[in-house]
Amino acid sequence: MHTYMTDTTEKILFSALELDPRILRAIEDTGYTQPTPIQAQAIPHVLAGRDLMAMAQTGTGKTAAFTLPLLQRLLPHANTSASPAKHPIRALILTPTRELAIQVGESVQTYSKHVPLRSTVVYGGTDIKAQKPLLANGLEILVATPGRLLDHVESRNLMLNQVQILILDEADRMLDMGFMPDLLRILALLPKQRQTLLFSATFSDSIKKLAQDFLQNPVTVETARINTANETVKQSIYMVEHLEKFHALVAVIRSRNVRQVLVFTRTKLSAAKVAQQLAKDGITADAIHGDKTQSERIKALEAFKAGNIVALVATDVAARGLDIDHLPLVINYELPMHAEDYVHRIGRTGRAGALGEAVSLIDGEDGRRLDDVEKLLKRSFERAVLPPSERPRQYTGHGPLKAVTSHARKPATDDWFNKPYQPSVVTAKPVEMPVFSAPVVSKPVAALFRKKIHAED
Ligand code: AMP
Repeated sequence: MHTYMTDTTEKILFSALELDPRILRAIEDTGYTQPTPIQAQAIPHVLAGRDLMAMAQTGTGKTAAFTLPLLQRLLPHANTSASPAKHPIRALILTPTRELAIQVGESVQTYSKHVPLRSTVVYGGTDIKAQKPLLANGLEILVATPGRLLDHVESRNLMLNQVQILILDEADRMLDMGFMPDLLRILALLPKQRQTLLFSATFSDSIKKLAQDFLQNPVTVETARINTANETVKQSIYMVEHLEKFHALVAVIRSRNVRQVLVFTRTKLSAAKVAQQLAKDGITADAIHGDKTQSERIKALEAFKAGNIVALVATDVAARGLDIDHLPLVINYELPMHAEDYVHRIGRTGRAGALGEAVSLIDGEDGRRLDDVEKLLKRSFERAVLPPSERPRQYTGHGPLKAVTSHARKPATDDWFNKPYQPSVVTAKPVEMPVFSAPVVSKPVAALFRKKIHAED
């Protein structure tokens, strides 16, 4: 196995990457001028047909790093025939969350707009019947969450026996216990002879070992030290009293005066209550968690992305991969069960070179989890108290605070990841499939290169 580290001085152009002019034109349309380090490193290997394990910080252009060479590899099969038989599924991209599937699907559409390759997205929580016609005409690239994909296989809506390229986005999550049974069933349906690409910001050692079983003679590409948090994110830890936590949250949001803040909780109940309470306090908010219907989840995320609400309160269902343009602030109202998710959560800010801030509010319950985060990141944080101007208003010991704190000492999580797919749950009204028209906003690419790249520390 070879490991390649990024050379920050390397400044290649997209035109040097042996991509078809039509793909280059789509890149040009997005306004990107140069490949990001993960793109520069990964694309040549994918084009050469190699299996790949790619580790790159979140927000550094991973999606294009696999989508661009994927399109190039499929180009020989591109055709405009109306016959579905001429459009078998040749590439399968799996993601752990529905929101990420939608987002990746949008990127695939963006980058493939000048080539006759078809793609669509299928994910759970929506009417499966509405997705069937999208598959019936045939398509080359399918983005899916695993549970819904298997539902379609069972309903004979699609075949996977011609898949040449498999991509696991947020691969460490896809390979963990919760997803493994579905993943194994899917792998059994794919041709053995295929190219497999794993992309993630974090890979635990055990997952890395496990991944080897799925890969053939893989190349490993790293553009940052594994399991690191993004360096464009300023991380602050504030020690707060359990009962003051909600007021501390409001105080931090108000003091930052931001137009958008993503607040993470550990439990669905807590997410719902915090959102409700924020709204009562005059901060427009909605919640996104595993108990919400998919249409509610999409609505909340869209409202947040559009700037119609200030706070989105989420469980770790929203920790992975979501690209919220220039999100300035992430607050950990409760630290996650798994330290890796801290990295993913705070990676929602400071993306594409922009600066961001991540504030964690730590009470007694979170102390041990903070130790785990520090162990993972191999650094220790200063434990600060909120400056007087940001301290909660006088707390009387009554009122809403109890309502928004999670149940003491119960190891509660959003069990969404343990029962991630609810394929049989159909929303009352079928959700419209995503419209693939979102323009990809050009990012200050120079900033993407400013990140310090760790090679050996
Ligand atoms: P991702 O890591 O795929 O979620 O991408 C993070 C953000 O970077 C997205 O908003 C992309 O549109 C943007 N991006 C991806 N590639 C480039 C590039 N070469 N230059 C500038 N921005 C990019």
